[in-house]
Formats: sequence, C-alpha cells, structure tokens
Amino acid sequence: MYDVLIIGSGPAGLTAAIYACRANLKVLCIAGGPTVDDSYRLPGGQLMLTTTVENFPGFPDGIMGPNLMLLMRKQAEKFGTEFVDDNVTTVDFSGRPLKVFIGDTAYEGKAVIIATGAKAKWLGLASEKRLRGKGVSACATCDGFLFKDKEVVVIGGGDVAMEDSIYLTNMCMKVTVIHRRDKLRASPIMQKRAMKNPKIHWMWDTVVEEILGSTRVEGIRLRNVKTGKVTELRTDGVFMSIGHDPDTAFLKGHVEMDEKGYVVKKENTMTSVPGVFTAGDVHDHRYRQAVTAAGYGCQAAVDAQRYVENLE
Ligand code: NDP
Repeated sequence: MYDVLIIGSGPAGLTAAIYACRANLKVLCIAGGPTVDDSYRLPGGQLMLTTTVENFPGFPDGIMGPNLMLLMRKQAEKFGTEFVDDNVTTVDFSGRPLKVFIGDTAYEGKAVIIATGAKAKWLGLASEKRLRGKGVSACATCDGFLFKDKEVVVIGGGDVAMEDSIYLTNMCMKVTVIHRRDKLRASPIMQKRAMKNPKIHWMWDTVVEEILGSTRVEGIRLRNVKTGKVTELRTDGVFMSIGHDPDTAFLKGHVEMDEKGYVVKKENTMTSVPGVFTAGDVHDHRYRQAVTAAGYGCQAAVDAQRYVENLE
C-alpha cells in the first residue's frame, strides 16, 4: 500500500514525487513505457522528444530535454520514489484504497496523482519526424526564440495557431499561417487580432505534403485542396499548432473529463474523485510548459499530502 501513486513521469509527475517523498509519504511513480509508435508515454514525457530546453529556470546555457528529465528522476529517486516503467491500463476509484492497474497487477494507494500529460498532434509525415528539433516544432513558446528575424510557417486554424502566430511575430520577420480550410476555427477575437497583424500572411485550403531540407528545414511542399496545385514555399521553421491529445483514455468513466478528454479539476488540484489529484498538461491546455507542469506537480503533492494526513 502506497500513500501516493503517481501516474506519469514528466515534469509534473516527477515534481509531485519529489515533494511527496520529502513530506515522508511512500510514493510509487508509474512512469510510462514504450508503446506501439515508440514515441509516446516515454518515461520522462514530452521533454524526452526535445533537444535543448532554454526556458527552464536554473539552466542559463540550456539543457537537453532528456537530460533534464534524467536529473528530475534522479532527484525523485534520491528521496525514495519507487518507479515502474510501464503503462497504466485501467484504474478502479470506486472504493478505498484507490487502485491502479498494469494489466492484472493492481497497485493500491491512499491518493493518486494523474500526471500523464498531453501530446502534441503531428501530421504524421516522415520528414516532419526527421526534422523535429531541426526547424520543426510543436511549441512556439519554447522554440520561437530560435527563429529571430527568420521566416516561419504555422500549421492550423485554431486559437493556438492564432496565439502562436501572433507570438512568433515578436521575433520572426514573417509568419505564414497555413490552414486546410478557408475558414478559421479560432474564436472571432483571436482571428481579428491575427488578421490585423501585418507580419502574418495566410494560405487557405492548403495542406502540407512534405517538409523539405536534409539537415534543417529549408522549405515546405504544399497542395491546394481545391485546385490540386502543388507549390513550394521557402521557410526556416514549421510550427505545428493542430491541437493536443491528453493521455486519458484509460481514465474514461472513472474521473470527470471535458469534451476533449482533459481531466477536470474541482477543488485546487482535486478531481471529481476525492483523493485523486491532477497535475500538468493532462488538465492544463493553456500553458503547457515544463515549468508550469512542475508547478502543478508541487501543488498536487501538497494537496495529496494534506488529504492523506486528514485520512489518518
Ligand atoms: P483546435 O482543435 O481548436 O484547432 C486545431 C486546428 O488544427 C484546427 O484549425 C484544425 O483544422 C487544424 N488541424 C487539426 N488536424 C489537422 C491536420 N491533420 N492537418 C491540418 N490541420 C489540422 O486546437 P487548439 O490547439 O488550437 O486549441 C485547443 C483548445 O484550446 C480549443 O478549445 C481552443 O479554443 C482553446 N484555446 C483558447 C484560447 C483563447 O481563447 N484565447 C487560446 C488557446 C487555446 P480544422 O479547423 O479544419 O478542423
């Protein structure tokens, strides 16, 4: 029996582990394991797929994403966190103790912290995968700075695509929004803001066929879905803003989620189930940063600690 079971080992899960262990709680972190596409639910989360992280405080020269996660995990281990590198298959929150399953194996805890994160959606092109971190990014806030005075494209037509495009105009010379339809999904106010920005250019009814470049992004091959015309556009960077998927399929029916599958917080970090807390991108579709996820991890650990103390 554990005091706290933590599901997920990105910055939210590992920060929760560090705080919970230092509060003298017995903690198991179910860290994730390889899946079919081998790029998802990696122990360490999304930062395992990035290169240099330059915006995490404390690293003035930047730090490689995987290295940052390794250090966080070491820190959690140092204070006594136990780890299982596997994927949770289902949960049972109907009774006490709370139960989390990996196949037939049940792990029991007085409290659970859900920190499974959300993964950025990608187009699924081989060139996109090959050039990730070499001009292809799914995080304008993280990587925009690398494109100072350069020309970039943003793929997508939702609120995040508008936000990303506007943000990128702060450093880039030109930002082209490429959208697959002739109508944006973004809210009217965000559309208006982006449309007003003279640095933002638009390509409608257009899909990406290929990202071009051998060692770095050099351009992009596009197809107009109405005319069928194929064109190439020179660009230094490609930002994917086509949405995120929270990793919550295994929680369906066990905890309240919104229509997109993000876990809903009820009171502080507590979910609809007493004793089940949430931290990081799995409930946060607004900030999605390593440092905010870590902050939420701390909050969830403090809430879980108080919950466990009150049980006693
Ligand atoms: P959305 O799902 O709202 O938008 C995704 C966009 O990407 C859509 O325009 C969609 O096209 C496009 N897209 C999806 N898949 C593909 C694909 N395979 N190829 C090309 N284009 C694709 O996600 P967001 O991340 O933008 O926003 C998430 C949520 O957060 C939304 O509810 C949003 O409103 C909210 N939000 C609100 C903000 C605000 O109010 N200021 C700020 C940021 C986010 P199509 O339109 O054709 O489906």
